Amino acid sequence: MNNSQLQPTLLRLTSIDCELLRLQTRYDVLPQKNKLADLDKKKADLDERAQQLQQMRTNLDNKLESLNAEGELVQERIILEQGRMEENSANYKEVARLSAEIETLTRRLEKLDYDSNSLQEKCQELKGVQAELEKRQRAIADMEEQLQASWQADGTKLLEEIEQLGTERQALGTTLPAEIWERYEASRAKHNGIGAAALQEGLCDGCHMSLTEGQLARVRQQIASEGVGECPCCHRMLVLP
Ligand SMILES: [Zn+2]
Repeated sequence: MNNSQLQPTLLRLTSIDCELLRLQTRYDVLPQKNKLADLDKKKADLDERAQQLQQMRTNLDNKLESLNAEGELVQERIILEQGRMEENSANYKEVARLSAEIETLTRRLEKLDYDSNSLQEKCQELKGVQAELEKRQRAIADMEEQLQASWQADGTKLLEEIEQLGTERQALGTTLPAEIWERYEASRAKHNGIGAAALQEGLCDGCHMSLTEGQLARVRQQIASEGVGECPCCHRMLVLP
């Protein structure tokens, strides 16, 4: 390979490596990743709310149960007192007392029924809220599944491109003199993925520093003799565009 072939090969390598950096960054910050994180937060909020609702349901159910148990006791008492009243039907005083007692118990029973009905209504309302919440939880689970699939699809596409470019740069590398290829790879490792830069109108395209006349003359001389120069600022390999 002569020097005139060296320059375009190194420039092509540089542009492949720029593209590789871009693809890698895109892979690292795929939007699905953030969206999935947002969904996770929403999911956690909904799960917490679902737990609160379940706790409320349990409390209501317990209250309802104790109201109903009390209602049954009162009912038994009423039957008992009615029996006593029949047994003592000749004793007007006792009948009057028992009758008042039964009336109080009946009012208590009515109050218990009323409370029980309103608790049951609350239970129904709560069930509706729970069903709504479950619907939202299912919707989020569906969205999560879709995002996971699209993340994998996009990720796979990017990884394929990365692999393809990797193969191309490897093939290009083997066409370079071994010593230049090694220098390029060492420079790439040291300079955040970009090993060479073009010298454009006295500027290093890698670090954008303007070279002095003296530096320019030295770099031109390096290029003429070795095929590549070196930026005196960022120390990347310098080639002519
Ligand atoms: Zn430079």
